Amino acid sequence: MVLLTPGRLGDEIVDTTPDEGLLLGVLNSTPVIDGVPIDSFADTARARAWLAGAGGLGTETELRHVLEARELLQAVVRGEQPADVLAPVLGGAVYVPEIKDGRIAWVLSVPPDRALALRAVLTWDALAMASPGRLRPCANEECRLFLIDHTKAGTARWCSMATCGNRMKARRHYQRARGPQDG
Ligand SMILES: [Zn+2]
Repeated sequence: MVLLTPGRLGDEIVDTTPDEGLLLGVLNSTPVIDGVPIDSFADTARARAWLAGAGGLGTETELRHVLEARELLQAVVRGEQPADVLAPVLGGAVYVPEIKDGRIAWVLSVPPDRALALRAVLTWDALAMASPGRLRPCANEECRLFLIDHTKAGTARWCSMATCGNRMKARRHYQRARGPQDG
């Protein structure tokens, strides 16, 4: 998909460059806390407030589109589904020509309720093009979060060093320390 910046989303001109905070916020809204899977967007009022804070409208329809995009994006980033499944999220998006400063500019136009979900998918796409493999699930199998690896060497493994990183390090240390006795 072609990326133009800024693009026109609905009636608003918004920046369609990678919006990693939005993408990670959506992807990471289903954490596992103390072994229990949580849906941070289950509380509709809170979810809608979050969407509004992320530059959305905060409407119920918008939330529905974001939840759809979330499920599909999570499956795609986990490698459980091919990227083609994201097609429904692109529905209603078109490029329209505008004359600006004597030149024609192509701007992206989508129904306002769909803009935020589309932004998340465009960000996923931009990352996949610019930094393939850098958006991935946390290496802790019990964690359901995702990370965007910004390290130079591409060696980041954990959603957060403070939580999963230290936990997994401690576990490895424990296994090493215990190893010889177990044979
Ligand atoms: Zn994690």
